[in-house]
Amino acid sequence: MNYHIGTMLIDENFTEGCDCPICKIKKTVNERLTEQYLGEAVMEEDTRLEVNKLGFCPNHYSMLFSFRSKLGLALQVSTRLLTLRNEITLPKNGWQAKKQGETLLKTNKTCVICKYLEEHMVRYYKTVAEVYYNVASFKDRLLAVDGFCMEHYANLLKYSSCAGSKQKEYVADLYAVQSKKIDSLKVAIDEFCIHHDYRRVGTPLSDQARESLKVAQKTLYGDKK
Ligand SMILES: [Zn+2]
Ligand SMILES: [Zn+2]
Repeated sequence: MNYHIGTMLIDENFTEGCDCPICKIKKTVNERLTEQYLGEAVMEEDTRLEVNKLGFCPNHYSMLFSFRSKLGLALQVSTRLLTLRNEITLPKNGWQAKKQGETLLKTNKTCVICKYLEEHMVRYYKTVAEVYYNVASFKDRLLAVDGFCMEHYANLLKYSSCAGSKQKEYVADLYAVQSKKIDSLKVAIDEFCIHHDYRRVGTPLSDQARESLKVAQKTLYGDKK
C-alpha cells in the first residue's frame, strides 16, 4: 500500500501554538491509509494477502466499520477468518496447547494498517529533520509550536541525524520547545492541585490550570482524537 510523502502536511501543521503537529500529521495519514483499505485496493492480490496475514487492530477495525461501505470490510474479514480457521487446530497435548495459545496471542496483535502507518511516520520524522536542514525559515516555525506529545518528541530526537550538519542546532531547538512545554504544564498542574486542596478553598483557577489534566493526557499519550 503506497502513500506519497511530501512536505505539505509538515508545512500545514507546524503552525504557531500547535500542540503536537506530528499528532495532527498522523491523524491525516491514518485516515488516508485506512480509507485505501475500503477502495479498489481491497481487490488487489498483494493487499488481500497482507490483510489475511496481519488483520486489523481494534482501532482500525472500528475506523473501517465507521465508513459507509461495509462490503469492503466484510470481504476482508471473510478471508482473514479463513486464515485464522487454518491456524486453529486441535492441540494434541498440553505443550502444543500452550504453544498454539502463545502463537494466537501474537497473531491477534498484528494490524496491516498500523504497520504501514508506522513506516510512514518514520519517514515524516526524518523529513521534518530534512526540512529543518533545507529551509532556513522552518526554524522559527518549529520554535513557535506548543510542544509535542512524548512519543513524537522521542521519535524526532531518534531521527534527528537527518538534519545533517544542523543536527546539534535542531536538537537544541526541539529541546527548547519541549522543556518549555513540560515546565508550563507542570506549573498549571500544580496550580490545579492547590486549587483543589481543601485547605486553600477559594484560590482562583486560571484557564491553563483548568485544562491542565486534558493537556497532560495529550502530552503523555498523544492526541487520540
Ligand atoms: Zn504527538
Ligand atoms: Zn491498527
